[in-house]
Amino acid sequence: MRSKFIKAISLAAVMALAAGCSNKAEPVKAEPPSSNNNVNLTEKEVKPIEAEEPKEQVKPLPLDSLAKKYKAKTPKQWGERVDGIKISLNTTDKVIALTFDACGGAGSNGYDEELISFLVEQQIPATLFINYRWIDANKDTFMKLSSNPLFEIENHGYQHKPLSMNGKSVYGIKGTKDAAEIMEEVLLNTEKIEKLTGRKPRFFRPGTAYGDEVAVSLVRELGQEVVGYNVLGDAGATYNKNQIRESCLKAMPGSIILLHMNHPEKQTFEGIKLVIPELKQKGFKFVKLSAYELK
Ligand SMILES: [Zn+2]
Repeated sequence: MRSKFIKAISLAAVMALAAGCSNKAEPVKAEPPSSNNNVNLTEKEVKPIEAEEPKEQVKPLPLDSLAKKYKAKTPKQWGERVDGIKISLNTTDKVIALTFDACGGAGSNGYDEELISFLVEQQIPATLFINYRWIDANKDTFMKLSSNPLFEIENHGYQHKPLSMNGKSVYGIKGTKDAAEIMEEVLLNTEKIEKLTGRKPRFFRPGTAYGDEVAVSLVRELGQEVVGYNVLGDAGATYNKNQIRESCLKAMPGSIILLHMNHPEKQTFEGIKLVIPELKQKGFKFVKLSAYELK
């Protein structure tokens, strides 16, 4: 499984390279020069190749050694508030970060256009945690969202699995079974988002927002912060508009509110429409996660 995944990642990286720069790829592929051929190369021909190398110093992540390092670690915690998960902005400013998940998969690929249009209309910034499968099901919408500076696109995983080192489950959803599967969950969607938008996600929210503390530190080594919430905005889009309102009114300075943008048939939009004016009236402003340090 591990080698299959790592092969998949390397293959994707090779494909990205090939797609990105067909000409530049040539010098990399060139055979080691034999002494005979080398004599014929002018300095001009050699130099550009050397000059390009420092620019492309994107070090591949040491996936194999990370998998080995983490194999030996046993988690002690399991939940939404384990060590390392960020649940609020580190500030006393009267700001709130609205985060909307798009979970993807059967029954979860919907798009709440009314909700997003409302945010755009009101110029309310938000962070969107988007799953790999949702992107596939909503490619045009995804591209539109990612080009709107009001929003930042973050990582909601590949298969929407809870973030476990050893296959723990929650709500009947089986978590990742080991370090390799965690890397798959994080990196396949990272690559997808980066390829489509040119920007690498900085934040990762696991499916169900559950994790263990060892898995969380592994994700950090992969370059992303694991982000939960401290206000349960719509409870997986199950709350009605009044419950959403009541819940969001509990927000404190620096709160991260967890909501959903993939259930237009539910009441998330109605709840948001109800509560945003009240929060504004209380003096709150809305910001993206990246606007502050997290804690
Ligand atoms: Zn989700």
